[in-house]
Amino acid sequence: MSHTYFDSENGHKSFEMPGARPHYNPDRPGQVEHIFLDLVLDIPKQSFRGTCSIRINPVRSGIDKLTLDAVNLNIKSVKVGETKQDFDSDGEVLQIQLHEPTAAYEPITIAIEYSVEKPQRGLYFVGPDKHYPDKPTQVWTQGEDEDSRFWFPCFDYPGQLATSEIRVQVPKQFFAISNGELVSTKNDGDDKIYHWSQTQVHPTYLMTLAVGDFAEIKDEWNGKPVNYYVEKGREADGKRSMGKTPQMIEFFSKAFGYPYPFPKYAQVCVDDFIFGGMENTSTTLLTDRCLLDERASLDNRATESLVAHELAHQWFGDLVVIKHWSHAWIKEGMASYCEVLWTDKEYGKEDAAYYMLGEARNYLAEDSFRYRRPIVTHVYREAIELYDRHLYEKGACVYHMIHAELGDELFYKAIHTFVRDNAHQTVETIDLLRAIEKASGRNLMFLFDQYVYRGGHPDYKVAYSWDGDNKLAKVTVTQTQIKDSKKDNGNSKDVFDLKIPIGFGYKPEKDADERSAANIKTFTVRVYEREQSFYFPLEEKPAFISFDVGNKYLKTVVLEYGVAELKAQLQFDPDPVSRIYAAKALAKKGGLEAVKALSEVLKKERFWGVRAEVATQLVEIKLDQAFEGLVSGLKDKDARVRRAVVNALGKIKTHETYKALRSIVEKGDDSYYVEAAAASAMGSIAGANPDEKPTDEQVLKELKLVLKERQGWNEVVRSGAISGLAQMKASEDALNLILKYTAIGTPQALRLAAIRSLGTISTGQTKLNLERILHRLAELSKETFFLTQVSVVVALGQMETRKAIRILRSLADQTPDGRVRMMADEAVQRVQKNVGSDAAVKQLREELDQVKKENQDLRSRMENLEAKAKKD
Ligand SMILES: [Zn+2]
Repeated sequence: MSHTYFDSENGHKSFEMPGARPHYNPDRPGQVEHIFLDLVLDIPKQSFRGTCSIRINPVRSGIDKLTLDAVNLNIKSVKVGETKQDFDSDGEVLQIQLHEPTAAYEPITIAIEYSVEKPQRGLYFVGPDKHYPDKPTQVWTQGEDEDSRFWFPCFDYPGQLATSEIRVQVPKQFFAISNGELVSTKNDGDDKIYHWSQTQVHPTYLMTLAVGDFAEIKDEWNGKPVNYYVEKGREADGKRSMGKTPQMIEFFSKAFGYPYPFPKYAQVCVDDFIFGGMENTSTTLLTDRCLLDERASLDNRATESLVAHELAHQWFGDLVVIKHWSHAWIKEGMASYCEVLWTDKEYGKEDAAYYMLGEARNYLAEDSFRYRRPIVTHVYREAIELYDRHLYEKGACVYHMIHAELGDELFYKAIHTFVRDNAHQTVETIDLLRAIEKASGRNLMFLFDQYVYRGGHPDYKVAYSWDGDNKLAKVTVTQTQIKDSKKDNGNSKDVFDLKIPIGFGYKPEKDADERSAANIKTFTVRVYEREQSFYFPLEEKPAFISFDVGNKYLKTVVLEYGVAELKAQLQFDPDPVSRIYAAKALAKKGGLEAVKALSEVLKKERFWGVRAEVATQLVEIKLDQAFEGLVSGLKDKDARVRRAVVNALGKIKTHETYKALRSIVEKGDDSYYVEAAAASAMGSIAGANPDEKPTDEQVLKELKLVLKERQGWNEVVRSGAISGLAQMKASEDALNLILKYTAIGTPQALRLAAIRSLGTISTGQTKLNLERILHRLAELSKETFFLTQVSVVVALGQMETRKAIRILRSLADQTPDGRVRMMADEAVQRVQKNVGSDAAVKQLREELDQVKKENQDLRSRMENLEAKAKKD
């Protein structure tokens, strides 16, 4: 079942890029039992040498040839015992011709002596250079998915589990950390030797090494060391960012029904890390960008989520290992879902529900704008392509649905069973289904069939009406993802068949504010056709309707209720996600009444997430009165709401808004993100055509000042100014300023923001300037650092000239990274589409915007007149 592949439908782009093919684990000559790396690092030369010893237990007799993955390793010799073996190494694999064929179940140890110079991947050397003299000297590894073969020869796929040992010699001033326990250290002249041993089995992609002059912050959980390693001087940031780890270990030990399994847990923050974090067994590596200073910790929860995510992997991924990449959702979905579970524990139910909505939206965006695919598929070009929002966020949604379907008790019982039964082993999706069945008796195949083994999700439209004479509520549910026929009803393979609770809510009797007192009468109906109507006899007319009470299912939903019902739901529905849906539907109805209701909620709603969403919705009602409502939100006590308000204000392109935003930038805000959003929005107003628009000069002056003065944490604020400049598409001065910040030596975060923004600004520039941009991006595309390449691809993908395609193609050909290649290929398609929308269409679009703006003025005035007339 897990290998069924459904192609995408309904005009959704296919996931499969040209060249995609099925991938299987290789045949297994035997069980790898132990891997021992004995290495000497030469940091100045960015090279290392040593021996990799692999003990393998042959599965049968008579094997005389072994094929190991080994990319660009200089193999010096291969020995079994003292006997030299013949071998052949072609830069991809190492073929060993065994002198003596194997005897079944009689283990042999193969010792491979090798060296590596300037490795391309797998093991990374980071250090100062003339452009970045302050960069720390570090060495770190990244194995997932198939990069361990770039730093040691191995059977490089997750289906092989073995114990491991790493002994490494480094210059004395450095510390070296690896999986498991430190068994010994030894001084050797100017060097020091660290010997680490991992005695529980794990796959090659989780073997790691990190070397640097770190500060060590000691913590513990149940007597086990829980240490944080950061660059010296950032100890306080380290504690602030990772300090909740022991509580998290406690929480996940209980949630998984299995105490933390490894002898220690270390988190090492490294420079230039290409991912957010990597859950190497007992030794997680994190990007040093996750380290929060005090001000950033005000409204940054991303770091806490990252810490929870990587920690959860120690069980889901490291203790229970996936057998093949096609099942990676089991670990990535769970680690992402654990961000939700931790949010629930730490910040409560509403925050967790809102976090879950964010996960769903991330997946939905990829599904609409990128491609649709089944979560489980083994058809791809490179495994790393699977690491997308289907794998992580949709995977999290699937776990949430399992949780909702089983309820708390059975869900945790099933998870405990799954972890206990599969500890120190490999799993496939079917094993999760089996554990659920074993623990709960429930067969969730229907859920997996619809959400895991095939792409997509239901798009519901829900209409409601009340028949007062018969006291009947009528609810009509349409699955709008089924485009075509009425005849096809129920038979289409796109139809979802789910049992969905529909609630009818009544206002609380006394305290009108007491949401928890709102009384909801719930009926569960089976929704399995394209369109179905349900009739519910009720004693009284409900105040609001709640579709999918508790928001169990991954879906989109459009509500077609009356204004009164939507307003009541916005006020009384205990589920914040339902309130957000109501806000959206209300905004869609538009009009002064909606503006009033939403403005009121922005002031009074207790949960910050709903206030932030309401701000976003308010601006969608194209009435000038929305401005008044929004502006009051600038005083919100929660920085995340202020940020949403500022972003929303950026869409109201008037001089008045500009003044409000400028004052935020000038006076500053407690939050980096709010300041950044304000700087960015200022630029977008300057880039539009407001009636009394601030001159480019004025705005440039403001943003220049930000760039000059607001250095700081991860360059968030200055990157906001860059994004503002990018919106001033017709300004040559803005372009020149951005180009200046793409220079090497610019702090990396700021430089990457400047590179990305070249795409946005390119669409309004003169031909000559467009050439300058292309030239600069072509130069930058030659830099090999992963994050630079990604930024270049993002910029080129936004351009509207065929010349961008050539640079993208050559980047795709030359990059060693599968993700960059895939992104570049997708960017080519985007540019082709952009080019299709020629200048004439652009002109029309601008004219239309102008007409819309005038129309909005008229409507706003009319609404005011009507409101007055009503009062009179
Ligand atoms: Zn992960």
